[in-house]
Amino acid sequence: MSVREQIIDLQKCLPAGVKLVAVSKMHPASAVEEAYAAGQRIFGESRPQELCAKYEALPKDIEWHMIGHLQTNKVRSIVPFVSLIHSVDSARLLEYIDREAARIGRVVDVLLEIFVAQEETKHGWEEAELTAYLQEGTWRSLKNVRFRGVMGIASLTDDRERICREFSRLHALFVSLREEFFGTDFDTLSMGMTSDWKLAVECGSNMVRIGSRIFGDRNY
Ligand SMILES: *Cc1c(COP(=O)(O)O)cnc(C)c1O
Repeated sequence: MSVREQIIDLQKCLPAGVKLVAVSKMHPASAVEEAYAAGQRIFGESRPQELCAKYEALPKDIEWHMIGHLQTNKVRSIVPFVSLIHSVDSARLLEYIDREAARIGRVVDVLLEIFVAQEETKHGWEEAELTAYLQEGTWRSLKNVRFRGVMGIASLTDDRERICREFSRLHALFVSLREEFFGTDFDTLSMGMTSDWKLAVECGSNMVRIGSRIFGDRNY
């Protein structure tokens, strides 16, 4: 299927209320244009430099999402235009985003990335660490970030039960954080990729991040 056909097919399969982030990392701007022509408006990138280059080159009604690990020294380059940062995994990063957003008078939407997988290579808060940080309360003074929800990546495995357990943990944590700390603004649960998005949706995801299924394999 072409990029256009993949977008149309996915939009047909996704239940109402589940947003599609088309992950265009490592693919050229022309691939984004093809998806854009099929009606897609939300795109995800994992490297700040590539995100900035595509933002410059492409239509301004695109919502750009940062989904990859973000270093504090790259925050300034994306804060002026990014729509949602999925990969917020530390207090320090939150403080940087808040400071840069305040400097230019923006409020930036963020998701808290939670570590649930078995691979050590993945990023994200440990549940206990996040709960301790939220209870301690300094986050309440961050006026230029808006906490919108949770993001997670399941283990890379064929064991569907394991993936399901991980997604269910993310969903439970999302619900409890909303109730205990954040309220109704906290409305986004970002989980599910090419290999596991159906399972993620069954487990309560309302934002899937899909790359290779739409754009084909990436050449690293
Ligand atoms: C690359 C990436 C995706 C998309 O992965 P595919 O398997 O190509 O769909 C989703 N989320 C994150 C965080 C990624 O880095």
